Amino acid sequence: MPSADIPPKMRGLLLERFVEGKGEDDPYTLRSDIPFDASSLKPTDVVIRAAVAGVCHTDIMTVRGEMKRFLKEGLPIVPSHEPTGVIVALGSEAASEKSAPATGGKRPLKEGDRVGSLAHKEPCGQCEECKANRPKFCGNVSFLGISDKHGGLAEYLIADYRFVAQLPDEVSFETGAPLMCAGLTIYTAIKALQLEKGKHVCIVGAGALGHIGSQIAKSKRLRVSVLDARDAPLELCNSLRLKPDATYNCGKVDADDEQAVAAVVKAIGGEPDATIVTTDAIPAFKLAINITRKHGQMQVVGQPADPIPIPFYPLIFRDLRVTGSLLGNQQDLKELVDLVGREGIEVKTKTFKLDELPKLLGELHSPTFAGKAVVRVGEDQ
Ligand SMILES: [Zn+2]
Ligand SMILES: [Zn+2]
Repeated sequence: MPSADIPPKMRGLLLERFVEGKGEDDPYTLRSDIPFDASSLKPTDVVIRAAVAGVCHTDIMTVRGEMKRFLKEGLPIVPSHEPTGVIVALGSEAASEKSAPATGGKRPLKEGDRVGSLAHKEPCGQCEECKANRPKFCGNVSFLGISDKHGGLAEYLIADYRFVAQLPDEVSFETGAPLMCAGLTIYTAIKALQLEKGKHVCIVGAGALGHIGSQIAKSKRLRVSVLDARDAPLELCNSLRLKPDATYNCGKVDADDEQAVAAVVKAIGGEPDATIVTTDAIPAFKLAINITRKHGQMQVVGQPADPIPIPFYPLIFRDLRVTGSLLGNQQDLKELVDLVGREGIEVKTKTFKLDELPKLLGELHSPTFAGKAVVRVGEDQ
């Protein structure tokens, strides 16, 4: 539709103030009068009519004010950095051949395309990171729903074509939304390990990232084990077609107890070549570093509020490497979306409505919650 036909006010959620605690206290306001201005698009803009958007741990951190150093124009903002929907208008560059990578190189983006967008938007293009094609590390890049006023939990948003991927028909909006942050983060973390077929990766934390990552790693023909302190997410992993080779409930394991650690290693079929910690539970990091094989790697994806304890002994005497992994880029997202469609990777979601966010946030922290919470924003698509 011509951008002049996009309504100037929209229905959606707003974060208007920071809230302490876990974020269950109804931090958002549902409004029908959120201003939306698509009258003068930048060349890189993609206007998306939202369908389904994910809710992620970083949204809770945003609610608590832990991400406020990234805010571009202050509050209010529309939350969610895992948007999907249908393109309704494009800037000039977004409609040009330059956007072909978003469609796997087949053609430029166009109105009506089903897409998802990762969080990033408008990198500066001038800094060392941008020039090296690493815009996710640009100090001036914006993040949808975190630092940019546009997020996935309102009827419309403006994304940046350089971070958008087209969704193939076999990838629904419910499956696509969690790929935009949770899925992409774990995909990139696994890819960066560069493990050969048959090598053992242990994913510590079987939540939204863990259950997707376990299947991605299996599709790459790796040996996969999954640890969690809760039964429900482990059962979910075991119910999937691409299920892990081993799962173990490590809730009662003392990571300083050598015998207990040895029992975990035995249960998962030996020391993993790499561990990926997706949770923010501090004991998980201690356990992960103690089970990782000599010369192995621990990949940090979880973002705990407290410092991660790393003793010198495993670093020096077992020659471990500890690395971090941040989201991904458009190429990674395209690869992931294709992989999910091709391999039939199952993204387990529970869908809520826009007026059910307090319920969603309450359930997210329940030990019986498994999979990924998403919100259906648009009713007609
Ligand atoms: Zn830059
Ligand atoms: Zn996220």
